[in-house]
Amino acid sequence: MSMDTEKAEKAQLERNANLDGLIKLQKLDSEIARLSEMLDKTLPSEIEELCSSFSNAKEALEKHNQELESIAKIRRDLEATVDDTTASIAKTKQKLTEVKTNVEYRAILSEQENLESKIITIEDRQLELMESAETLIAERNILNSEAEAEERRFQSKKAEKELEITKLKEQLAVLVLDRKQIKQSIEQDVLAQYERVVKSRNGIGISQVLDRTCQGCYQTIQPQLYYQIRTTGNIYQCPHCDRYLYHNEAKNDKTTGLGQNK
Ligand SMILES: [Zn+2]
Repeated sequence: MSMDTEKAEKAQLERNANLDGLIKLQKLDSEIARLSEMLDKTLPSEIEELCSSFSNAKEALEKHNQELESIAKIRRDLEATVDDTTASIAKTKQKLTEVKTNVEYRAILSEQENLESKIITIEDRQLELMESAETLIAERNILNSEAEAEERRFQSKKAEKELEITKLKEQLAVLVLDRKQIKQSIEQDVLAQYERVVKSRNGIGISQVLDRTCQGCYQTIQPQLYYQIRTTGNIYQCPHCDRYLYHNEAKNDKTTGLGQNK
């Protein structure tokens, strides 16, 4: 068993250059995927969310303004009706001076009373509308300062997020350059296989074997293959998920304490 460990340590030193490159590449790819997700999805949706609470406040304000406008229009119409009615009353008063019969007189008088009570009804309605408008104006003023505060909050948070985006883009550009370099240290066909698996296996093309288990698909691999991975430093693929496999002797010993017994 100690022979195994010795062999494994030697294998670690003589490990296939492709493996070291692939391990580094996987780290970069995972980080690139994480940053891309942040840039393409997380941050834009966070900005959108911030924007929606700001636009809700603006919408409520807009609704109040519309209600106020419609009240103002009703009041203008009522004022016009009062003017017309007042003019009609003046006309009936004129007619009163020209009446010839009692019946005519009473008819005109009752018309005048009707017009006067119409004005009183309108004036009551005007008062109600004025009160509603005052309430709406008070609410509108509150909504207005809320919307302004929301906008300030939105703009400053948005600026923060945009700064974050700029920084992430810079980080990403560095990682992409690193990736280009690392790729050059890996053989073409190995790289092509890795990239195929990355695409079909959720972004992971190489996995560690821990306690005879592939950490990519969590299936157990055969003892013979496990032995070869540990002792030869050659490059192998998981028979279950096709991911490349690597073994980290020190880490296995530390984390499982089983390194020497296997
Ligand atoms: Zn696997």
